[in-house]
Amino acid sequence: MINIYDLDLPSLANLLKEWNEPAYRAKQIWQGLYVHLYNSPEQFTNLSKPLREKMTEHLTFMPFSVKTFQDSSDKHTRKTLFELPDRNLIEAVLMRYGDPADDPAHLTAKSAKEKTNPSGLSELSGSKPRRTLCISTQAGCAMGCVFCATGQMGFKRHLSSGEIVAQVMYYAQMLKEQKEVVSNIVFMGMGEPFHNYENTMAAIDRLNDSEGYNFGARRFTISTVGLVPQIRRFADEQRQVNLAISLHAVDDDARVAMMPVNKRYKIDEVLEACEYYVAKTSRRITFEWALINGVNDTPEAAKKLASKLRGLMCHVNAIPLNPTAGFDGQATDRQRAALFKESLEQAGIPCTIRMRRGIDINAGCGQLAGAASEKS
Ligand code: SAH
Ligand code: SF4
Repeated sequence: MINIYDLDLPSLANLLKEWNEPAYRAKQIWQGLYVHLYNSPEQFTNLSKPLREKMTEHLTFMPFSVKTFQDSSDKHTRKTLFELPDRNLIEAVLMRYGDPADDPAHLTAKSAKEKTNPSGLSELSGSKPRRTLCISTQAGCAMGCVFCATGQMGFKRHLSSGEIVAQVMYYAQMLKEQKEVVSNIVFMGMGEPFHNYENTMAAIDRLNDSEGYNFGARRFTISTVGLVPQIRRFADEQRQVNLAISLHAVDDDARVAMMPVNKRYKIDEVLEACEYYVAKTSRRITFEWALINGVNDTPEAAKKLASKLRGLMCHVNAIPLNPTAGFDGQATDRQRAALFKESLEQAGIPCTIRMRRGIDINAGCGQLAGAASEKS
């Protein structure tokens, strides 16, 4: 069986040629998939019955099965656990933001002032409702960050481009039934997207296609642990996709203790690559900072971070650490987080404190771990 989402338009055209179908069929199928969001051959009523039967025989629209899904108690967050044919598990999360009914107070003066974060992960609700998908690029992760449940489980395998696309289409089809659409896609689920560079970019290209799903490049955000050659490559490709770098510490020793990848790519090297990215693309870069109580959340830590980032067109997304089984660190409380933000901003670096999402269902950043999270 071929995962239909693994095919780009030329490959689909080739397949149909092999099946002796006229060339225009490829576009019909492409539009059925990505414009009408069909998820089974029967829905393609503009195709002949024999072709639909051939599609059923050779193509799958669901390259994984839904093992479980969970909704957070506030219903804003849904986490779905998918099982791949080789039994590997991956997770993808839907986050709903800014629904008027949630908090009418935010629809007053505050919402007018809200700065929307490009990733759609901003702190305040209000303004337009957003549906942000957090998608996995690998089963597990090889980077071993100590505070992250995915890192704690180790690397299983890369996902194919079609397995990445299929997570998006799964939610897009579900939202369509509720007359809703996906507004942002963040590659912040399981895995390191730049470790699976080709497939992640191929997935973005497929979803970005103007004759298909037409999802704007600026509505994607890639988050990376800081793989320097890939940051430079990404800059050279001049993509309009948002880039976020997981920093969490600015001393090499402190960062190595949290993120083994820092042995390979030191902070200054990462920041040089970030400067290169900003120079090449004229795009603002985001730094992710998981606030760990007493570790990296003091005003001094904020000042040190600010001095490292000075001169770089950037923004810091700070999020209180989410709990994971394999890490002892504690989350920073609201007050300390606000102080951190204030110190950073006084030193000239804009900062957003991100809302913790879906903690009660282990759907927060760094909490995705497939089977392991089911047990906890
Ligand atoms: N591998 C990529 C993207 C997936 S992780 C990366 O590391 O950037 C998405 C984000 O969640 C990253 O910024 C990561 O550092 C952060 N994260 C991981 N574990 C976390 C935790 N326990 N609490 C808060 N954020 C965490
Ligand atoms: Fe991998 Fe990102 Fe988790 Fe680090 S934080 S282990 S890079 S998923």
